[in-house]
Amino acid sequence: MPADPLPTCVVCLGPAAAGWTTCWCCRRLAAQLGPVPTVVAVAVCGPGDRLHTAVRRYKDSPAAQERREQRRALRRLLQQFVVTQWRPMVGRLGRWDAVACVPSGRGTVPTRHPLQAVVDGVPALARYPRLELAGQPGRVDHLRPAADAFSVVRLPPGCRRVLLVDDVWTTGATATSAAWAVRAAGVEVAGVLVVARYVDPASSPRARRWWAAHHGGPAPARRRQSRSQPSAASTSSDQRGSDSGS
Ligand SMILES: [Zn+2]
Repeated sequence: MPADPLPTCVVCLGPAAAGWTTCWCCRRLAAQLGPVPTVVAVAVCGPGDRLHTAVRRYKDSPAAQERREQRRALRRLLQQFVVTQWRPMVGRLGRWDAVACVPSGRGTVPTRHPLQAVVDGVPALARYPRLELAGQPGRVDHLRPAADAFSVVRLPPGCRRVLLVDDVWTTGATATSAAWAVRAAGVEVAGVLVVARYVDPASSPRARRWWAAHHGGPAPARRRQSRSQPSAASTSSDQRGSDSGS
């Protein structure tokens, strides 16, 4: 069988170069900070589309009402996904015995991330003991993970294997940094469940062809939406993810 000319990275579910099973971003991250966590994503998003808008504005919108609406929309989306895709998800990641939300931003004071409220509303995830991560001074940048960006501040008794949950996966630097912190605490990382796998089709001609091949349509238009709902977002058959800011 001929090789797929537009393969999908087996780790992060983004576009990979022909002849490769992993993408350049995952290889670069792994070379710096060890294994990149395997991604399961609810949906792929592109620049400015409804899901991309939702995963930003549920935490960043200046309007409290919009933050609540977007949080509810993300919760519905995540709930629907885990109910319908539980078995494939466990098949890809294996089992876990605790769940941890990846904090966004930096700061040494553990604060309740809006993602926590989303996950708390999804019974299939909320039933697991919670491993808590807090941001530390280490700086995560684009494709530059940091060993000192996070630390484990609460470890459930007997926890051996954790599922990370993040809102968006872009290059994976944030989630890879979080995974490093979890492993440093002696806990295995099953993988990361992301709500949105961000891919910019305009980033390269190959990304544009990959998007067209795997998402069956034109790349998302760059447009601004102030009150969009992600529930109708591109729940394509496969999944891609992000990074809370790197
Ligand atoms: Zn990758």
